Amino acid sequence: MSNGLVVITGGSRGIGAATARRAAAGGWDVLLTYRTNAAEAARVAAECREAGRWAEARPLDVAVEAEVVRLFGSLPAEAGALRGLVNNAGVVAPAATVAEMDARRIRRLLDVNVLGAFLCAREAVRLMSTAGGGGGGAIVNVSSRAAVLGSAGEYVDYAASKAAVDALTLGLAREVAGEGIRVNAVRPGLIDTEIHEPGRLDRLAPTTPMGRSGTADEVAEAVCWLLSEAASYTTGSFLDVSGGR
Ligand code: NAP
Repeated sequence: MSNGLVVITGGSRGIGAATARRAAAGGWDVLLTYRTNAAEAARVAAECREAGRWAEARPLDVAVEAEVVRLFGSLPAEAGALRGLVNNAGVVAPAATVAEMDARRIRRLLDVNVLGAFLCAREAVRLMSTAGGGGGGAIVNVSSRAAVLGSAGEYVDYAASKAAVDALTLGLAREVAGEGIRVNAVRPGLIDTEIHEPGRLDRLAPTTPMGRSGTADEVAEAVCWLLSEAASYTTGSFLDVSGGR
């Protein structure tokens, strides 16, 4: 039986792709989005269908309001009703100090990581809220350990964007708790994906308590638990998936 439909942003690679595969295996219909990587996204959707679920990949820049509104306004009738959102799409910029950052860099980062998460959450709440006739659901935001560490000398702008995602998680969870919607976040640590500059993972993995980087699958597992009914009394919570702190 289907759990309903989950929208996963940035599902073409890394944590988003792993989450899409895991969600399909766990009984979700999956609408995954990508920014540029159509072929990879289509391959992930095909893998989700192999698990016996409805799945499709669609292009979306989460920072463009019209695109977000269009996506949530044209959800497929063939899939189950919308019951989940994973706000996973996110970007970093090359390592720099705050003194070196220009406004264009900071603005783009905030547009994708913060505005994008807000817009997708807004559209999902409008569709899922029991106050508006929806069936309720769950939102999982992909934050970062950077939100509490600050990322000095590398990307304080990124850390600040994830701190904003944490505030969105907490505030929205309280706002919609009475409308059948739970809102939680995972805070991944150092996860082996393409988001890192070359050499960064090897350099930093030994400094983590477990002495290694994590996998996208290890994060996906946590995301899917928060999405699921097994987490039915969990909202406004943060789950660190970081090999220790
Ligand atoms: P990734 O491998 O670089 O994948 C990023 C995904 O986001 C891709 O699917 C990409 O699509 C999509 N994307 C990029 N810009 C977008 C936009 N403007 N609109 C919509 N989609 C966009 O990254 P990842 O490591 O899996 O990261 C996923 C999330 O985890 C991010 O929010 C990141 O901040 C967070 N995180 C990662 C780590 C880590 O160590 N990897 C740690 C903490 C938090 P295309 O493939 O089409 O470009």
